[in-house]
Amino acid sequence: DAGVVIVGAGQAGLSAAAELRKRKYEGTITLIGDEPAPPYQRPPLSKGYLSREMPLDRLWLKPEGFYAQAGIALRTGTRIKAIDTSAKSVIADDGERIGYDHLVLATGGHARRLNLPGADLPGVHLLRNLAEADALSADLEGARRLAIVGAGYIGLEVAASARKRGIEVTVVEMAERPMARTASALLGGWFGAIHRGYGVDLRGSTPVKAILGETRAQGLKLDGEEIEADLVLIAAGLEIQTGLAEAAGLAVDDGILVDEQARTGDPHIYAVGDVARFPSARYGRTLRLESVQNAIDQAKIAAQSILGMNVSYDPVPWFWSDQYELKLQIAGLIEGADTMVRRGDPEEGRFALFHLKEGRLIACEAVNAAPEYMAAQRMIAAGATPDPARLRDLGVAMKDFLS
Ligand code: FAD
Repeated sequence: DAGVVIVGAGQAGLSAAAELRKRKYEGTITLIGDEPAPPYQRPPLSKGYLSREMPLDRLWLKPEGFYAQAGIALRTGTRIKAIDTSAKSVIADDGERIGYDHLVLATGGHARRLNLPGADLPGVHLLRNLAEADALSADLEGARRLAIVGAGYIGLEVAASARKRGIEVTVVEMAERPMARTASALLGGWFGAIHRGYGVDLRGSTPVKAILGETRAQGLKLDGEEIEADLVLIAAGLEIQTGLAEAAGLAVDDGILVDEQARTGDPHIYAVGDVARFPSARYGRTLRLESVQNAIDQAKIAAQSILGMNVSYDPVPWFWSDQYELKLQIAGLIEGADTMVRRGDPEEGRFALFHLKEGRLIACEAVNAAPEYMAAQRMIAAGATPDPARLRDLGVAMKDFLS
């Protein structure tokens, strides 16, 4: 038996392997990743690991002995360059062929490089993996000023971590406000004000023309202005790795297309995590999510599907971000919302924004407000239609919405 081969040893790949063993899959499991490190958590790379509050050994998703104990053949430092679907095997960079009965693609992506003059200079950083985080952290050592291109979650988290290390930070963003792609205007604007309060020079509606410097990055060239910096981080989103799938003739459209069981058009091949696009009955369209929740839950579905279980993936997405002492938690997707209800006072640094569509709760953005977030998750899943006046009323406990 060739068993299950998983390409990509990140959160999703590891979760698929662990779920198979947990559910007593008895075949071979081979987990293949091109990074040198065993599977680790990415979220701390821009947060506690970068601010040096979290040591390296807390990044590992599983303890060292796990893989041998669970009978998972972990092959780090191995890049797969092709899939031979007719022979049911994958081909590594060195030409080795590894056969599979079922193949799981969990290849995630790279941080997007911008096509800017100077983008290849030393001192220009990207942040997706551990090696990049270590390079960024080492370069921050002794630096006075950091310039960040992009005010999405990663850009802002790095800004907060760098401020904790006493570094001056400028963030430039093309959109008008931070987190414009995923967060509500109120939340994005509020986080922008928080960053400015911590001394970050945060600029919206500001395109970058070039990275300054001859032999090393020295700042950013904007429209009619230059920003000096000792190093630059490009935080401009993810470029997913769909090349293997495409070359194998699988359907790809901003993500490897899969069904509710995480299966591609080839019945022996699955795709999970950041790289997969799946149909959601809940949202009436396909989704591709970039979150730990999705990496774990979709990988479990793929594993269960390989085991012949009758499962279907249609999650209420959730996500978090830590910036300074603020814990942001988001449940659901705010697209299509027609009403926003605020509970709590943003001035006090603890509040929740509930987003409703035709009376139904579809999303919640909670800042240091875990009870609101947790109740909202369950209410969204249940299709609840809470009374906005009661939602707003701090005198009504969140648990009262759950009965
Ligand atoms: P990845 O984690 O990208 O893993 C894919 C792996 O496959 C990589 O190791 C890659 O090198 C490898 N690979 C690719 N191609 C090949 C090949 N051909 N052969 C072999 N190996 C290959 N999410 C949250 O929910 N909350 C957060 O707070 C949060 N913070 C984040 C902060 C940072 C700095 C980053 C980078 C991400 C953050 N995320 C967060 C997103 C989350 O980490 C991702 O959604 C998650 O890691 C996706 O897992 P994945 O397994 O699909 O992909």
